[in-house]
Amino acid sequence: MVQSAVLGFPRIGPNRELKKATEAYWNGKTSVEDLLKVGKEIREQNWKLQKQAGVDIIASNDFSFYDQVLDLSVLFNVIPERYTKYNLAQLDVLFAMGRGLQRKATDSEPAVDVTALEMVKWFDSNYHYVRPTFGKNLTFKLNGQKPVDEFLEAKALGIQTRPVLVGPVSYLHLGKADKDNLELDPISLLDQLLPLYTEILQKLAAAGATEVQLDEPTLVLDLPANVQAAVKKAYTYFGQQSGLPKITLASYFGTAVPNLDALKGLPVAGFHFDFVRAPEQINDVIAAIGANQTLSVGIVDGRNIWKNNFAKSTEFVNQAVAKLGADRVVVATSSSLLHTPVDLENEAKLNPELKNYFSFATQKLGEVVTIAKNVSGQDVSAALKANAEAIAARANSSFINDQAVKDRVASIDAKMSTRAAPFPQRLEEQKPVFKLPLFPTTTIGSFPQTKDIRINRNKFNKGQLSAEEYEKFINSEIERVIRFQEEIDLDVLVHGEPERNDMVQYFGEQLKGYAFTTNGWVQSYGSRYVRPPIIVGDLSRPKAMSVKESVYAQSITKKHVKGMLTGPITCLRWSFPRDDIDQQTQAYQLALALRDEVNDLEAAGIKIIQVDEPAIREGLPLRAGAERSAYQVWAAEAFRVATSGVSNKTQIHSHFCYSDLDPNHIKALDADVVSIEFSKKDDANYIAEFKDYPNHIGLGLFDIHSPRVPSKEEFISKIDTILKTYPAEKFWVNPDCGLKTRGWEETRLSLTHMVEAAKYFREQYKN
Ligand SMILES: [Zn+2]
Repeated sequence: MVQSAVLGFPRIGPNRELKKATEAYWNGKTSVEDLLKVGKEIREQNWKLQKQAGVDIIASNDFSFYDQVLDLSVLFNVIPERYTKYNLAQLDVLFAMGRGLQRKATDSEPAVDVTALEMVKWFDSNYHYVRPTFGKNLTFKLNGQKPVDEFLEAKALGIQTRPVLVGPVSYLHLGKADKDNLELDPISLLDQLLPLYTEILQKLAAAGATEVQLDEPTLVLDLPANVQAAVKKAYTYFGQQSGLPKITLASYFGTAVPNLDALKGLPVAGFHFDFVRAPEQINDVIAAIGANQTLSVGIVDGRNIWKNNFAKSTEFVNQAVAKLGADRVVVATSSSLLHTPVDLENEAKLNPELKNYFSFATQKLGEVVTIAKNVSGQDVSAALKANAEAIAARANSSFINDQAVKDRVASIDAKMSTRAAPFPQRLEEQKPVFKLPLFPTTTIGSFPQTKDIRINRNKFNKGQLSAEEYEKFINSEIERVIRFQEEIDLDVLVHGEPERNDMVQYFGEQLKGYAFTTNGWVQSYGSRYVRPPIIVGDLSRPKAMSVKESVYAQSITKKHVKGMLTGPITCLRWSFPRDDIDQQTQAYQLALALRDEVNDLEAAGIKIIQVDEPAIREGLPLRAGAERSAYQVWAAEAFRVATSGVSNKTQIHSHFCYSDLDPNHIKALDADVVSIEFSKKDDANYIAEFKDYPNHIGLGLFDIHSPRVPSKEEFISKIDTILKTYPAEKFWVNPDCGLKTRGWEETRLSLTHMVEAAKYFREQYKN
């Protein structure tokens, strides 16, 4: 019998229950007991759902109040000293590490002011984990036993689960040394960490767990020899301990083949590999695993929403069964389902034809079960027939194909993707147009999305506000943001984006070829969820998407207002892409639609246009090699196709979130000005990497994920550090990212301090 397995289920609840409960707790509206209760209810619901669907192997400890990697940091006491001095409760320490905490003193409690830990993209997904940060005075020990508690919770419901933890090598390799401890290689901490893993695994076994899933997604990266050696060492060590559950070592998001030598001969019960992303690894993997070890075949996509093709998947799994036998094969999701929306049945408004092509987390449970049954020879003919019909219907659907779009993509040439003059000449032509001071100040685009904005948008969507009334409201919000920016004396203004629900969805809704969900939320980080639109067919722009708001904003101020667009790669990455054509083609389709929008903005008198590409880094293939080099070329070209139709005098900006950007890749975009997230990257080497970047750049000066307000002095010291390496004449002053998740009060204070700091440096550099 081939078993079915799910590597993890979304923890946000079918109606975003976790977000509501967490935010209510943060705002002091509910107690910690209320929050814990909601967590418990979600876990119970998820386990029962999987049990009812017939899934054989169900995960526990896939739940988290913030992030599963952060949970491990707390569990192992990898807590930098700054979080421990306030005697906060453990859950509050966890939240402080995830999002920072700033609290005024009360009669009973002292003031608290701590920044958050660095947050990093989880591989090439749009999920973010809180980076383990290893300081000098680290004492590894167990804080509580969350994995055991949640295992027991499921057991009490009569559901046997397979607890999942990020494995020791990935945990260390994804972490970093704290700035007081920079000589440390985190992987050297393995010897201290292994006994703690052993302790928690023994406790799980004692509680009744017969197997565990240890996730080692770093196995799909290019690993240095010492990390490969750490894999061997860690799992050999576990093999020597007594009283541990059986271990399934799981990798996902790519091929593990280059690291297979490290896996050969390890004393584990089995391995999981992602065959959605890397089907080509099947033969190497089968050859590498030992006699009696099981192979978990990740064949149901944990990262996308398309219906599985049962016939193809069955054929694929049968290759493994033929060689290993049914008892050694498991049919599984490719990764945790964390990256997919919870339930397609929540989509009452979706076009039924399209709905028939999709599968969300809840539907994917049925998919692993059906494929496992089919491979095992059980009768699932009705499900197979319906599936084959849906797959055939999608291929021939009129939603998918548009010949005019295909022809236009084929016509892209070098001229379309090159600005008329190189940057130095553009800069000279732009100077008299903009007359900007040294250290020009700006923001990234969005301003706080208040309750008022959401209420009015909802009313408009429900038809309770007319188009004129809504436009009047949006204009009043734009005016408020413009006046605010004039008042605090920013140099380059934005309209604040009150009309936008989301930076991708807003444009997607206006493009032909996109579909939308009403409830298809996916966790991005902490309590921030996104609702990725779905690219279903060839993409085109029926009419202008953003010109009206930008033109209104420019009409009410003498300062320059940036037009704000989302770039082709970000639109692609933050949507669920098609799986029937390559991503490059989808990026070019988006680039052409955006090119028309950029040109329309310019024609309407907007002289600075920012095309954001925050997702360009996460799209980078995880491994060095041909695929990565090709991506760097086509991603940059897509950006340039979108932005090269303008005159030399028009200033093109771009923005990137998250660190570890390759300056050469950014250079290839040839934007006049770029801004990057920087505030949590306190690393002189990183600044140095951008020293020779030829165009202008704004290194983000404050963390917009945190409500914390930096002082003017803090800004000055930060800029001072940067200017030790970075040339003043190229430097723009801006926050890390857009401000839409922040409140107005903290926004006002932070930006005021930032502008004051810029003015301080203007004085310093006067002649
Ligand atoms: Zn950003």
